[in-house]
Amino acid sequence: MTTQEATSSGDDMQIDRPAVPVANSEMAADEVFNPDHLKFYYGKLFPYADLYKWMCYGHDGKHPGCDQSYFSRREFSFTLENDIYLRFQSFNSVLELQNSIRNNCPFKIDIGPVYTVNPAKRHAYAQTGDNVFTPVERELVFDIDISDYDDVRYCCSGADVCLKCWPLMTAAIKVIDSALRDDFGFNHILWVFSGRRGVHCWVCDGKARRLTNEQRASVADYFRVYKGNENNQKVSLVGQALHPFLVKAYSEVLRDFFEDNVLLNQELFATEDRCENILNLVPDEATKSELRGKWQDNKRSSNVKDDVNSVRWGQLKHLLQSGKNKTKGLRRCVEEIVFTYTYPRLDMEVSKHMNHLLKAPFCVHPKTGMVCVPIDPNCSEEFDPTTVPTLSKLMEELNEGGLRSDADNDLGGTSLGKSISYFRSSFLQPLLKSCKEEIERSHHAKIQQTKNSMGW
Ligand SMILES: [Zn+2]
Repeated sequence: MTTQEATSSGDDMQIDRPAVPVANSEMAADEVFNPDHLKFYYGKLFPYADLYKWMCYGHDGKHPGCDQSYFSRREFSFTLENDIYLRFQSFNSVLELQNSIRNNCPFKIDIGPVYTVNPAKRHAYAQTGDNVFTPVERELVFDIDISDYDDVRYCCSGADVCLKCWPLMTAAIKVIDSALRDDFGFNHILWVFSGRRGVHCWVCDGKARRLTNEQRASVADYFRVYKGNENNQKVSLVGQALHPFLVKAYSEVLRDFFEDNVLLNQELFATEDRCENILNLVPDEATKSELRGKWQDNKRSSNVKDDVNSVRWGQLKHLLQSGKNKTKGLRRCVEEIVFTYTYPRLDMEVSKHMNHLLKAPFCVHPKTGMVCVPIDPNCSEEFDPTTVPTLSKLMEELNEGGLRSDADNDLGGTSLGKSISYFRSSFLQPLLKSCKEEIERSHHAKIQQTKNSMGW
């Protein structure tokens, strides 16, 4: 029974239907976010029970191996209207969490680490000396932001995103997700739309949550292909042979994605400037001049049937991979160009530190009104950031469908329902199953240890 069900009356006829704020579909762009709608969302739609179940990792059960303090040691952080920031919030139950969110109506909810002690009581503990207030667990997280791709996308810039550049996020999800599963052996991975211009990844396996900061930095480093500072996005694929992970990323995702999508959608060779951007990645002057010459020629003899981007890319590839360039080490350059234009650009700092806050799934982005819904990595190409449920759309759907007393039915009738079902069936249920097994295993081991020490 969810808490939402618990708070509603059993008799359909007697229900006081909460008034659904009326959405105006002709609202101006800066009016897409309405605080009254947010109140309604937290009152009726936000999946508290699912969030709670997730954050308990099985420790809300009756098993003697459960750590009943686990959930209350987790930091939540709220950003209220007018940028008032409430850090180190913690709760003892789903009801406390729900009441606090409903009362505060936060514009943003962030999730922090699990600490040694309840973060709300950190000051009391800090003075005792032996109970140090420090993070002990945290999901391994990744943050990918489309604005970090501004030098390789020509359709949008900054916070803007469209269906031409969004596939860069899809490619990032594919590359990172398969490496996390195949190379690191993680299973419980949640991808979430950040509400505007990117994606977040939560790796929730026990062994991921217990990684130290140093180990997190190593994982982040594994994904790093950029040399020099973070702003210099030129990819340098050093060494005799590519790392198997990069070979796989290239051959299974990035090469085809570059040729079938980015090359044409972003029209990478459509102007002289864009051509020069690509030539800047070619370290040999003679080759560059030869290519410039060819491209001057095909500008004059342009054949409308052949896409200029495909033609020029073909010429570049042919020249760089030809026999005479073998010795000059230019063959690797084709791969470097593909990586530069398509390889995931991670905000490394977010991944490296346990105590970094990350926005909770199912928050609503205050600028777009979009709900931060999960993305299924198995069909991430089907995700469309322009049709994500928004607060005003959810209000409309509820107005059309009418509200029913049962919370799950409310959700089922909205576009949010699908996202919540996905969250439950593909992420939460398998996660909780493995948490339960882990709790049982470690409890059993503890008992065994006690037995052994007593026997000795
Ligand atoms: Zn775009």
